[in-house]
Amino acid sequence: MSIRQRLYPTAGQAAGLMEHCHHARFVFNIGLEQRSMWRRDKHLRGPLSAPRVNTATQMRELAELRGEAEWLRAGSSSVQQAALRDLDRAFGNFFAGRAKYPKFKRRSDREGSFVIRDLSVRRLNRKWGEVMVPKIGRVRFRISRDWVQITSASSARVTHQNGAWHVAFTTPAPARRMAATGAAVGIDRDVANTLALSDGRMFQAPSLTTGEQSRFVRLQQRLSRQQKDSRRRGKTLEKLAVLRRRLEARRSDWLEQTTTTLARTHGLIAVEDLRIRNMVRRPKPKPDPETPTVFLPNGARAKAGLNRAILASAWGRFLTRLEHKMPEGNLLRVDPKNTSRTCAACGHCAPGNRESQAVFECQACGHEAHADTNAAIVILDRALRTTTAAGHAVSGRTSPASAGSANQLAA
Ligand SMILES: [Zn+2]
Repeated sequence: MSIRQRLYPTAGQAAGLMEHCHHARFVFNIGLEQRSMWRRDKHLRGPLSAPRVNTATQMRELAELRGEAEWLRAGSSSVQQAALRDLDRAFGNFFAGRAKYPKFKRRSDREGSFVIRDLSVRRLNRKWGEVMVPKIGRVRFRISRDWVQITSASSARVTHQNGAWHVAFTTPAPARRMAATGAAVGIDRDVANTLALSDGRMFQAPSLTTGEQSRFVRLQQRLSRQQKDSRRRGKTLEKLAVLRRRLEARRSDWLEQTTTTLARTHGLIAVEDLRIRNMVRRPKPKPDPETPTVFLPNGARAKAGLNRAILASAWGRFLTRLEHKMPEGNLLRVDPKNTSRTCAACGHCAPGNRESQAVFECQACGHEAHADTNAAIVILDRALRTTTAAGHAVSGRTSPASAGSANQLAA
């Protein structure tokens, strides 16, 4: 999958981009020539005399070539390496019967392209983003597509055609995004028992069954009528405790299973920082099981109190378990300020954005979404922005292959 956005380089940047195109074309062509000659001559030389030409050998030779040719060295090694990978892919498609034999790229000032790996993007505002181009710096592009999808890209191709520049972000296919390749996800939790993920999924924590809930309410009502320190009251308390333990056990199972699934399928998980969250949100009075509210018309408060108390402790435990199950540093905690009021599409932040508990509607751009999904996207967005700003590689965006090729070149 690929998301193409219009790129708006300055005049100086455009000249640099053009240089990258020329270098990429040169490396691609010289690599193609070498492979073609090797294929043509392998029968003449005999099977043992000719070492096989492949991406690894060509990467080494590229490094040597850069040592000799000043003009090539002035360009970006990662752009030039990416051209060799491009060539390798073209041969892969040819061998698999998906494409014709690779063709030489013609020199042209009107057409060209190159690939950026280890992508770093950031959002400036609703309409503009920036992509980091090696040796050139940040180049602006116009955002017309889902920002979250753009940030999920691991590489991009910059193309030049008929005077216009574009950047095409290569995003993982939706099905493969769930594989253990290190997809990034944001999680928001609501006051009920649901975790909302930035990709739209919901995880519902188990609660008491309807029957158990009415039983719980009945017991609480009975408790409020019973005399303190009476034996009957003791029995009622014990029955309430049984229900609480049952719910607790159910939640623990769920918590272990969910954290395992999430940790296994994501390279990066972003959540709200609880320590900050607790400071900014007004503390709610803790329900005391020993002294329940005397008047309970329908038991709503009792149920809510039970859920809140257990969820509050479960969320902290949820994060702890998640952190244990993930590689260090891959659970990111972000500032929770205004996550529920900020638009995931345009970044507009206003209290009126949240139409109701469940629906988010942006007053600036009209973006509509489930309120918690929207918040989860904002949380993820925040985490990705801080990691790229701090210069850390966002996990899942740097493949081992790229690290290896960097070493090859340095050697
Ligand atoms: Zn908006």
